[in-house]
Amino acid sequence: CPATFLMVTSFLPTINHFHMVASVDLADDDISSLDIVSKIHTDHDSITKASSDFGHIVEAVPNGVFHPTSPADIVALIRHLISQPKPFAVVPRGQGHSSRGQALAPGGTVIAMRSMGRGDHNHHVNMSSSPDQLWVDAGGEQLWADHGLAPRVWTDYLHITGGGTLSNGGIGGQAFWHGPQISNVHELDVVTGMGEMITCSPDKNSDLFFAALGGLGQFGIITRARIVLEPAPKRVLWVRIAYTDVDTFTSDQELLISEPSSGSGFDYVEGQVQLNRTLTEGRRSSSFFSASELDQLAKLVLDTGSTAIYYIEGAMYYDDDTASFVDQKLESLLEELNFVPGFAFVRDVSYVEFLDRVGREEQKLRAAGAWDVPHPWLNLFVPRSRILDFDAGVFRGILRDAKPAGPVLMYPMNRGRWDGRMTAATPGGGEGVFYAVGMLRSAVAAGDLERLERENAAVRAFCDQEGVGCTQYLPHHASPDGWRRHFGEKWGKLAALKRRYDPRGILSPGQGIFPAAA
Ligand code: FAD
Repeated sequence: CPATFLMVTSFLPTINHFHMVASVDLADDDISSLDIVSKIHTDHDSITKASSDFGHIVEAVPNGVFHPTSPADIVALIRHLISQPKPFAVVPRGQGHSSRGQALAPGGTVIAMRSMGRGDHNHHVNMSSSPDQLWVDAGGEQLWADHGLAPRVWTDYLHITGGGTLSNGGIGGQAFWHGPQISNVHELDVVTGMGEMITCSPDKNSDLFFAALGGLGQFGIITRARIVLEPAPKRVLWVRIAYTDVDTFTSDQELLISEPSSGSGFDYVEGQVQLNRTLTEGRRSSSFFSASELDQLAKLVLDTGSTAIYYIEGAMYYDDDTASFVDQKLESLLEELNFVPGFAFVRDVSYVEFLDRVGREEQKLRAAGAWDVPHPWLNLFVPRSRILDFDAGVFRGILRDAKPAGPVLMYPMNRGRWDGRMTAATPGGGEGVFYAVGMLRSAVAAGDLERLERENAAVRAFCDQEGVGCTQYLPHHASPDGWRRHFGEKWGKLAALKRRYDPRGILSPGQGIFPAAA
């Protein structure tokens, strides 16, 4: 392997090795000779598993689960399907970590993308050898946790696939500086709804490249992505600083995202809202806060009479050569910020420990029987100019006395790091900053799901009535009209691209965007 690869992997010893793939050149004869039938599983276990997703809200039974071992298998399946007078729909399923049936194919075929890691095509490694320009070719089925390398932008949770996150956006605390994961891709291999394997990039077949990124699986199945990498840091100062006042909280967040990550600021910036009852009735410790720190925060709520605590989560990377001055760098940065005095909490952890923080939460929730439960998540992008109205109407209004239901994320991103040519939708209005607000809700007790769905509906209605201009992330819309509004001025172009790359309408029916297969 090139030296750059060794340099990066040596910093990530506990993450599994990364399955890399070569781009493929498929001959028609090879495709027609492939045996696809034996790779379709119809046993009870396979069908049951593919009938539901992380959301546990909708169920849809497929007619089979296809286990490809190479992109050629996917090409062969799709060519076979579209040769039929009434083709079945297909959905590429990564980890099935969608919330509202996006990874389901009612009466169609689910493609179990994770089985691709077992094919021969993984034996060929394709990666850059120039230290100035680091990238790796990764299969669309691969988990972010498989990476023995360091993408520049990570999602908070690693047990989701590259295909799944690239078809949405892939956001996290590094996105303010590097953009979402879709802004960090050089090239893709995509199998279209016509069964063609197309290599695309900003310069080659660019309409498909931009359509597939954030494309919700509508235009093709991503089987390879050339992802930008960077040398991984060794350690991280992981910081949370608390606020009782949303105005100061958002001002400080916006200050932090205006600073280059490589300079004096944080390398990662997120934030959370802790509604009052989460502090008094919620869990007594987290992967970050100890029980006594949570007591301290609960006391802060009581003492100040505030309706919520907000905290900025930051991460400052460092290595052996920067270890001697990272504390000073953090101290100087904290001096610029206006959090509640005495409410800065700092952990010194390895990079891997930092990246896998939600994985540790998962283990705790699994142990408590609170992981495989319904997840009526609502993720919104909110324009910066309306974030305080949103806070007043939602966190200090609709959800003010809500029963604890899971973390609430709230952090800003720079629009300039998103590429408007991609399918992913962001709020209109052209403001330079918008906020990601993630209400990551779990329905644990009887009646919770209905209550949480009512709260979600009230939040959406508030946004509509007040003209807040929210755009859903990981979107779900029940009507064609909802999707038209979601994509706004991109809609006409997307409909034309759908007709071009999936004219039979067989791809990812669970998203419910376009009419079903015909
Ligand atoms: P699946 O649910 O299996 O598939 C979802 C859809 O993606 C499919 O319908 C299909 O349309 C499309 N798709 C999947 N594979 C492909 C492919 N190879 N080619 C084309 N389309 C494909 N998202 C973030 O951005 N940031 C986060 O920090 C984050 N944290 C999360 C934490 C948890 C605990 C969970 C459950 C989800 C989180 N997500 C986050 C959301 C996640 O990125 C999406 O739900 C993603 O789709 C999940 O990936 P998956 O592999 O499970 O996809």
